[in-house]
Amino acid sequence: MFIESPPCYYRILFPGAIWRIPGEEKCVYLTFDDGPIPEVTPWVLDILDRYGVKATFFCVGDNVRKHPETFQMVLDRGHRVGNHTFNHIQGVGSWSRLYVENVEKASEYIHSNLFRPPHGHMRFPQLLRLRKKYKIIMWDVVTRDYSWRMTPEDVFNNVKKHARNGSIIVFHDSLKAEKNMKEAMPRAIEWLLSEGYQFKLL
Ligand SMILES: [Zn+2]
Repeated sequence: MFIESPPCYYRILFPGAIWRIPGEEKCVYLTFDDGPIPEVTPWVLDILDRYGVKATFFCVGDNVRKHPETFQMVLDRGHRVGNHTFNHIQGVGSWSRLYVENVEKASEYIHSNLFRPPHGHMRFPQLLRLRKKYKIIMWDVVTRDYSWRMTPEDVFNNVKKHARNGSIIVFHDSLKAEKNMKEAMPRAIEWLLSEGYQFKLL
């Protein structure tokens, strides 16, 4: 999905998936996808500590295998983790059995009942099988920090424009997103705090 806030017709393709958690409290859910990697993730953790913010990291199993110490840092700092497949594979174009096996392989490294499909999509049979075991977490605000077409200002503005009560916001602790994320993410946190939002864990 290459849009900042997924429309209703897209959401109904994934029954049972969670896009936003509306409630009384003024809060948002900050999430990071595609790590953990030593080049970026520890930097993110330091920023989150600076603002006293907890987040949920949807990890790629193979990254956890390669960087167990970085993964452990995420856990030790009190954040939550979720499964983002072992090889960041796309559901569309993958056999359902292989897709589910890839998720299960990641679960050997990532102990979590949360799952987020890479690229925000998967096929219906995959959804049916995975939702028996996992809460399927999508998002309400995708910052598009990974896109070379975006400037850090655009990324920050996506948060300002789309964040609302209960929003699930996605940044990426990846090399591709590093430049945009490093500039926009702290600004987004500061803006959200100044607007009175609290940060909650999924
Ligand atoms: Zn991803």
